[in-house]
Amino acid sequence: MSLDENIKHDTFYIDGDWVKPSTDARIDVIGANTGLSIGNVPEGGEADIDRAVAAARKALDGAWGETTPAERAEVLNRFAAAIEKRSDRLSRAVSAQNGMPLALAEQLESGYVVAILRYYAGLTTNMVIEERRASPLGFDTLIRKGPVGVVGGIVPWNFPVVLSIMKIAPALATGCCIVLKPSPGTVLDCYIIAEAAHEAGVPAGVINWVPGGRELGAYLVSHPGIDKVAFTGSTGAGRKVAEVCGRLLRPVSLELGGKSAAIILDDVNIEHLLPGLHFASFGNNGQICALSSRILAPASRYDEIVDAIAGLAKGLKVGSSLDKDTQIGPLASSEHRARVESYIAKGKVEARLVAGGGRPKGVGDGWFVEPTVFADVDNSAVIAQEEIFGPVLSVIKYRDEEEAVKIANDSEFGLGGTVWSSDSKRAQAIARRVQTGTIGVNGYMIDLASPFGGIKASGLGREMGPESLAAYQQLKSIYLPAG
Ligand code: NAD
Repeated sequence: MSLDENIKHDTFYIDGDWVKPSTDARIDVIGANTGLSIGNVPEGGEADIDRAVAAARKALDGAWGETTPAERAEVLNRFAAAIEKRSDRLSRAVSAQNGMPLALAEQLESGYVVAILRYYAGLTTNMVIEERRASPLGFDTLIRKGPVGVVGGIVPWNFPVVLSIMKIAPALATGCCIVLKPSPGTVLDCYIIAEAAHEAGVPAGVINWVPGGRELGAYLVSHPGIDKVAFTGSTGAGRKVAEVCGRLLRPVSLELGGKSAAIILDDVNIEHLLPGLHFASFGNNGQICALSSRILAPASRYDEIVDAIAGLAKGLKVGSSLDKDTQIGPLASSEHRARVESYIAKGKVEARLVAGGGRPKGVGDGWFVEPTVFADVDNSAVIAQEEIFGPVLSVIKYRDEEEAVKIANDSEFGLGGTVWSSDSKRAQAIARRVQTGTIGVNGYMIDLASPFGGIKASGLGREMGPESLAAYQQLKSIYLPAG
């Protein structure tokens, strides 16, 4: 796929085949760097979801439902190899659509994706799905971990591939089938993954994609053929999904928004801090759920830290996401930029602007905003409490460690976070006290072998690591009182 030309698709990948959509509706994909159309695909309707769910059910009730873990591990490995062959196209497609700097897209939207599939293949190879357990009552019980069934997966536009694979990999590992609804902002990538799945011989109906908007997502969530929902997106949409799943008593995992804190301790080495903070706070142009967008700086070194972070923001290379050396690309859409700019306008009233605050010059017509830093932010300010999801940081002063932990925890969210110090043990002690699902010491990187997810308004459940498998499994106890 060359992104110099408009990419057009006329089908969906359902039941192992490229099938015609049920309606004439189309999704126009606008490139974040240019504001121009870079692709056009059909928009799914309810009949397409019905068809995809039926295909998934047929696969589950058919041969796929009979596969052994070792056979599924082979499928995962073949799928990883087929994606690896398409790494370049995949990372360019993501970067062109949502503005993710290409170097990051190569790392996370293709390389990391392959690593996740291979990791789950490894877990699956040795997966024990039935255990015979002696009961204190004097008989044995078989404990069986079967697939939960047909999964409805819904993903946002910020990491369309990796967030899909975080659902697909455990689903396939456990023997589930999945229907994915990508965000309308990023739909070109799913065609490349579907092509890889087809080449890898993922059996028909095991993975199906139907792109569309929130109404289609809502239809999928409440569909009678769905056994579990795996949702990643905003907290507002997550609450709606949770309400529906609550009513239906349908298992659901929710990966939602965040407003995490970077706690900078007074012994920090600024030279070590800045490169790490670049990814942990400005990664993907500020469009990562787990970013440390509140910077907690000690009063004793406050001015020095504000100057350093303002300098970091001013020094980042802003430009086309498709340029290899770009550090900050455009935001994903014009609507999203307008939203981020409305927060910047609020920040100018609530706090002191020390870097950015406008649109960069000479970078083209995409949805760019300057990396922006506000100092003297009160933690109760709107820019400190609400998720902005752009390259906008708030620096908040604290007096001592007690106050730093208190401010970090004074948030409706609890997803990521970082602690920065010359003394790793001291930082780890602080990290243990922060109310969050994940936190990094002197850096932040989501580990594929460890559970990832949030507490409070950041979500329910965990993805990644062996722990995520449980969400895709159904437990059954078969009592053997008569031997
Ligand atoms: P969004 O909630 O608007 O949309 C996410 C997905 O949900 C889209 O595919 C959308 O079409 C669908 N959707 C929206 N409303 C729905 C509903 N009522 N029922 C079913 N589906 C619905 O979010 P977005 O703007 O696309 O993504 C940004 C948000 O995602 C941010 O809040 C970010 O923090 C969050 N996010 C969280 C994680 C995580 O792992 N915790 C990862 C990435 C992004």
